[in-house]
Order: sequence, then C-alpha cells, then structure tokens
Amino acid sequence: MLNDPRSHGLWEMTAPPAPETVAFSGRAEADVVIVGGGYTGFSTALHLAERGTRVVLLEGAEIGYGGSGRNVGLVNAGMWVMPDELPGVLGDLYGSRLLELLGNAPRAVFDLVEKHAIDCEINPAGTLHCAVGQSGLDELKQRAEQWVRRGAPVRLLDAAETAAKVGTEAYAGSLLDLRAGTIQPLAYARGLARAAIAAGAAVFTASPVTGAERTGKRWTVKTARGSVTADWVVVATNAYTVAPWNEVRAELVHLPYFNFATVPLSPEMQAKILPERQGAWDTKDVLSSFRFDKRGRLVFGSVGALRGTGTGIHKAWARRALKKLFPAIGDVAFEAEWYGKIGMTTDNLPRFHRLAENVIGFSGYNGRGIAPGTVFGRTLAALISGEIAEMDLPLPVSAPEAQSFRSMREGYYELGAQVAHFAGARF
Ligand SMILES: Cc1cc2nc3c(=O)[nH]c(=O)nc-3n(C[C@H](O)[C@H](O)[C@H](O)COP(=O)(O)OP(=O)(O)OC[C@H]3O[C@@H](n4cnc5c(N)ncnc54)[C@H](O)[C@@H]3O)c2cc1C
Repeated sequence: MLNDPRSHGLWEMTAPPAPETVAFSGRAEADVVIVGGGYTGFSTALHLAERGTRVVLLEGAEIGYGGSGRNVGLVNAGMWVMPDELPGVLGDLYGSRLLELLGNAPRAVFDLVEKHAIDCEINPAGTLHCAVGQSGLDELKQRAEQWVRRGAPVRLLDAAETAAKVGTEAYAGSLLDLRAGTIQPLAYARGLARAAIAAGAAVFTASPVTGAERTGKRWTVKTARGSVTADWVVVATNAYTVAPWNEVRAELVHLPYFNFATVPLSPEMQAKILPERQGAWDTKDVLSSFRFDKRGRLVFGSVGALRGTGTGIHKAWARRALKKLFPAIGDVAFEAEWYGKIGMTTDNLPRFHRLAENVIGFSGYNGRGIAPGTVFGRTLAALISGEIAEMDLPLPVSAPEAQSFRSMREGYYELGAQVAHFAGARF
C-alpha cells in the first residue's frame, strides 16, 4: 500500500481489489461524517447507510490503511483483561455489558461476512491460546473457568491434545475458543467498505481531515480540497490518528507487531501444523502468533518493528523460532513481511469518547479490534440513530487521557523486542 510492501504484506498481495474511490473535493452535506476507513469507520458507515442515513466517510490514505489492513486476522472473543476482572474495573453494569458484547462479537463478524458475501477467507474454526510453561497454563485455567461459568464454548486442552491440534509439543496446554476464528484482515476491511458503498455511503480516500469547526448546531470538517458539513462526526482514527483529534493518539502507546508469511507449506506440513486451521498465539509477554492463510502460507508474528536493526534481528528470530516449534519445517522461505502499530491503553480496555458535542468514537482496542471495531461501529450507528442512548453503551463516556512518557515507552517496546529476539533461542 502506498508502495510500501512492509505495511500490508501478504494481505495486500492476496486481498480482492478495493472498491474504486477518489479523493474528496468540493462541499458536501451529510447527516454523519466518519473520519477513518478501518473496521470501526466502515461498520459505522454500513450500519448507518442501511438505515437510510446520509453518510460521508473520509479516509486519509487508503481503505484498511491502519490496523485493519495489517493485523494477524485473529477474530477474538473478549479482551486481554480476565472476564472476572472486568466488572471490578468498569463496574458491574458496563463490565457485564462489555463481556456480553465482545464475547459474541466474532459471531457478529461472521454473520456480517455472510450477509454481504464478503470474500475474506473467513474461517470460524476457533482459536488456540497456547500455554508456555506452568504459569501460562495457570493463566489459561483461570480464563477457561471464568468463561465456562458464563456459558462460553471454551475448553482447556492438555499438553497432548494441544500437541495434536498445534503440531508441536512446545506447549503445556491451550485454551480452545470455539467462538473465534481467522480472517484475511484487509479483505474484510475492503469488503465492509464495498458493503457500505452499496448501502449508500459516500467513501473518499486520500482525504485526510485537517480540521473541524462548529457551524451553528452542525460540524464542518475540512480536507485539503473541500469540506463536509454534518450533524455528527464519528472519529474512527484509533492508533493511526493524524490531526485534528490528536488526543485519541496521545492516549495510546504504540506497540509494534510484525508478521512473516512463509511460502505455501507442503501438504504434509499443512496436515501436521494446525490441521484444523485455528488461529494461535501464546502466553509469553513478548508473544508469538501463527495461523494459515487460504493457500497454506503460515503467518508467524511477534512484537517488534521491521525497520533499522529490527528487520534482521526479527527475521533471524522468526526462522529460529519456527524451526524450534516445528522442526520439520526446515529452512522455509518467507514470501512477505510487514508490521504495524497496536494502540495500547493503560488498562488494556477500549474507550468511548465524546470529544465535543456530537463528535464521538471508540478507540484503544489493544490488538483486539476486528470483532470489537465491528460491533462498536454497529453501536455508534444505533446511538446516532437514537435507538439507544449514551447510558446504554457498553463503555462509559471518558475523556482521553494522554499517557506519560509515551515516546520513551514506544522506544522501549521497540528496542526491548529486539533484545528479546536477539538473545532469545525461544519460540
Ligand atoms: C500488527 C497488528 C496486529 C493485530 N492483530 C490483531 C488480531 O489478530 N486480531 C484483532 O482483533 N486485532 C488485531 N489488531 C488490532 C486491529 O487491527 C485494530 O484494533 C483495528 O484494525 C482498529 O480498527 P479501526 O477501524 O478502529 O482503526 P484503523 O484500522 O487503524 O483505521 C484508522 C484509519 O483512520 C485513518 N486516519 C487517521 N487520521 C485521519 C485523518 N485525520 N483523516 C482521515 N483519516 C484518518 C487512518 O489512515 C486509518 O486508515 C492488530 C493490529 C496490528 C497493528
């Protein structure tokens, strides 16, 4: 994307083309202007346009340019925070609402994909959260107990069951979550965009919003070549925010995350590694993730940025780690490599912001944004349409709080990942 093979890698190589769009110019009137063309923006646009609302979506770069086109494609249920801890952090009301919404969010993605016939390699085969050592297993036991008590279809697998499902004996066990699955992330973003356009949304790319001002009871947002006036503004720029709503970015610490995609593996290796095609990741702090794409390429990722010294260090680590996990894989070649920035909040929970009257948005998904972005977009559409009130939202209204020492912490994560992968013989 934008001639950078390290931004969207495999996903750009294999996604169906984006719908044709142009840059915005002139003046337009709408009911709602949406800023940002990822899952949050397009889900909001789709669900509003389906209600007959006049929507203009302005994306600064291209459809899926942010996290939505670069991620691992694990359609997860829930958040990092343990289910039992959520009510403690958010209070009983919001805690249980968020658990309910995000626990069922993968189903919402799968249903939307089916409804709009989105071609995005959807595979609802579940996910495997793999335990590294006893401490990893203890954590997964707790997660399993807490979800099972809530009736979720999750199951703790022992080491032998895990070895059969993953194709390695490296793990002490795993948590199989049958609500979840995998997706081709950029294809999903482009498919949502196509569905939104078909429903009547006007979508413009290469149109960064540079300013917004109140004009009477309405808002006028500006781009380099024009302006859109609307009753509502949805800020869906999240971790890739560029001005004017810098506070959304300042609240997040960027955690870099890379992926390498192998060439398609042999049928024998494909039958051995993840034979049922779940998406997988592990319990380490500097975690690793792996999943197949439709053609049998293994997508293997971890924390770090593929730039400067990081490129060589992370690539060498990925080769070692893959061989350690799956010795029979040998010296497999990589077909693509890319990385992106995950937006982390202080408590690993997302946020709902009212940045000004009728200027609203969700953000801060902490590396779990496919299903949440989709259902939060649907929620924004319901709020704007007056079907629900702010008090019915799954999160309380909060003001963005800038994180202190942000640049220092971002540098620390990037360098720390290099140190971990340079020294690490571990997978
Ligand atoms: C490497 C990586 C791996 C991840 N893995 C997973 C995973 O496996 N599973 C999962 O669920 N989540 C994952 N995530 C998180 C997930 O990708 C994000 O949470 C999600 O894509 C956020 O969607 P969004 O629509 O809110 O924001 P984005 O997709 O980031 O979209 C924001 C858009 O806003 C645009 N924009 C910014 N400023 C302006 C402006 N001023 N005017 C106009 N447009 C603007 C940007 O260009 C961008 O396209 C991962 C993220 C990364 C980076």
